[in-house]
Amino acid sequence: LLQATDLWKSFGDQEVLRGVSLALETHEVVALIGASGSGKSTLLRCLGLLEPIDDGQIFLDGADISDPRVDGNRVRARFGAVFQSYNLFPHLSVLDNVTLASRVVHRMPRRAAEDRAMGLLERIGLAPLAREHPDRLSGGQQQRAAIVRAIATDPEVLLLDEITSALDPELVGEVLELVRELAAEGATILMATHEMAFARDVADRVVFLDEGIVREQGTPSEVFGAPREVRTRAFLSRFT
Ligand code: ATP
Ligand code: MG
Repeated sequence: LLQATDLWKSFGDQEVLRGVSLALETHEVVALIGASGSGKSTLLRCLGLLEPIDDGQIFLDGADISDPRVDGNRVRARFGAVFQSYNLFPHLSVLDNVTLASRVVHRMPRRAAEDRAMGLLERIGLAPLAREHPDRLSGGQQQRAAIVRAIATDPEVLLLDEITSALDPELVGEVLELVRELAAEGATILMATHEMAFARDVADRVVFLDEGIVREQGTPSEVFGAPREVRTRAFLSRFT
């Protein structure tokens, strides 16, 4: 579904992505792991066309979306993205946050967008808070609302970047549970995470990004159970 070949990206003279190739099949859940600064966020942002690449190609459903002639807004509308924090617009109600993209980008009538949004908010127990502003919600509730906002437009790919790392430990579980449910329902997910236990549990494949290259990838049991590369072993040893 999503395929990147030989992506290069620098900030100034710092090469952050140095020839990354990655493929994501429909319904696949891929965990992107790697040290701080290894380029995980940059990769997710480049794949979602939130950051221009210097070289390489990105294909979505066979079409080259890295071609400068493509309409970036139309492509971005096919992705759902959630980041570490500050995902919701503070001046909008939770409901308006969730319906914004459906109404503005996808031109869904307000009524239909709100019906769908309320259904999603009910599912995560936040329907009673739909008219509140995000600052009335806990961090875990905000991140779940952000995930619901990201899926409200039925995106083809969900890009999740360390969505639990700004949360108090007791709030992490409820957010991961929602991701687990979406994965079980067949969502296609690429998630950067430091939650190794969760990655082992939920991901179909684990990709270890190291100094801007894919150092190693495989099933969770391959990468966590029998890492081939010295660098992978060194990275994983920090989590035991
Ligand atoms: P973390 O685990 O801490 O989130 P990461 O793997 O997501 O790390 P990136 O955020 O992709 O790493 O950053 C990779 C490198 O690129 C870092 O050295 C960072 O300082 C640099 N970088 C990222 N974004 C920018 C930017 N907009 N301008 C300049 N440098 C940047
Ligand atoms: Mg990051």
